[in-house]
Amino acid sequence: MSKFPVPDDSCEYFDQEHETMTREQIEALQVERLRDTIKRCQKNPVYKKRLAEADITPESIQTVADVRKLPFTTKQDLRENYPFGLACVPLRDCVRLHSSSGTTGNPTVILHTQNDLDEWANQVARNLWMIGLRPSDVFQNSSGYGMFTGGLGFQYGAERLGMLTVPAAAGNSLRQIKFMKDFGTTAVHAVPSYVTRLYEVMQETGVDPRKDLKLKALAIGAEPHSEAQRQRIEQMLGVKAYNSFGMSEMCGPGVGFECKEQNGLHFWEDYYIVEIVNPDTLEPVPDGEIGELVLTSICREAMPLLRYRTRDLTRVLGRTCACGRNHIRLDRMKGRSDDMMVLRGVNIFPIQIEKILMNFKELASNYLITLTTDDDNDNMTVEVELEELFTDDYGRLQELKREVTRQLKDEILLTPIVKLVPKGTLPVSEGKAVRVVDKRKVYQ
Ligand code: AMP
Ligand code: ZN
Repeated sequence: MSKFPVPDDSCEYFDQEHETMTREQIEALQVERLRDTIKRCQKNPVYKKRLAEADITPESIQTVADVRKLPFTTKQDLRENYPFGLACVPLRDCVRLHSSSGTTGNPTVILHTQNDLDEWANQVARNLWMIGLRPSDVFQNSSGYGMFTGGLGFQYGAERLGMLTVPAAAGNSLRQIKFMKDFGTTAVHAVPSYVTRLYEVMQETGVDPRKDLKLKALAIGAEPHSEAQRQRIEQMLGVKAYNSFGMSEMCGPGVGFECKEQNGLHFWEDYYIVEIVNPDTLEPVPDGEIGELVLTSICREAMPLLRYRTRDLTRVLGRTCACGRNHIRLDRMKGRSDDMMVLRGVNIFPIQIEKILMNFKELASNYLITLTTDDDNDNMTVEVELEELFTDDYGRLQELKREVTRQLKDEILLTPIVKLVPKGTLPVSEGKAVRVVDKRKVYQ
């Protein structure tokens, strides 16, 4: 038997005490935990110096808003102090490290104590319980294992909940589908682009997910995706797909998750203080307005981060919910400020393109945006795969291309070059999808 108790199946909440706290209770806990976190940070030389410069002691925190007195932490800080320079405990107290999926410069490393791992598993279990999963479920984790936190993070969380857990990892789609059938998989976690790939392989091999599988729910996340993409996935597999937000700097998956209401991601405020700031002025933006997500981890021992600038763009939707949880609700990520493309002076996010493409039932889910410089002009080419059974009638294809181009132009205010390509021709990633390739000339 697990030494971590699990509630009765009929209970709506995995951790009722924390999930159903009132706003006052949440804020009181945040003040207490932030003070403890500052105490821990004072043990690290980098933080100690910064906190002293800003004249901060644990007593400086009287209300949650006092978090704004703290200095920000950035990815650059993590890189500069690579690998262990921001540790707040001796290395002998750490039991694992993970690294972030950044592609440039030093990777970033995040350390965990055993207690950090236990709390992380509790967070993930809380989320999976929230979407209706129970110990009798069979959970297949089709996300990469290893340094990427989506593997072990979901693994330990699903085990904490008590499910039979299948560490399938990503790739080898035929085997994945066989596992789903043979083991009676009821829930799958994967990045959204990989779920659509799995569905394609099901179609190719004559597997009908509604008849041949026992799926109850999907957890999709780790990469930005549109509401339209989610709905597509739900229609493909015939079950609800819940958005899961995570980042290795905060632990990994489990930071924010949709409840059954599907009206935004509950970010767990007993673990994090959530701020949305204007990325230029760094001042808070009003609820409802899009800004950069800033998170302070207040429940971590090895490497708490103070006011970490995530670069993710989102907005506050509310602080109450029909599900009974009063943890802040954030909108699905609009993208990352560093994903933003600036083409001929116009700011464009890949998700804007995706949203339009998903409107067309003739188009499949895989697409690629390529930016090039041709004759000193910067151009965008959008390649998108066609649904297999759509037509080879040239006239209809041209008509479709014109309509896609027109709608894209309305959305991004520039006319992209649209290419409709046969299904299966664009690269498929088993991890986070690569949606943009920038081949532009850079003028100094
Ligand atoms: P990593 O630390 O490598 O797992 O990457 C974390 C980043 O992945 C976040 O900062 C987001 O940019 C992105 N991400 C994770 N989950 C989601 C999600 N559900 N929706 C949009 N972006 C996500
Ligand atoms: Zn809710």
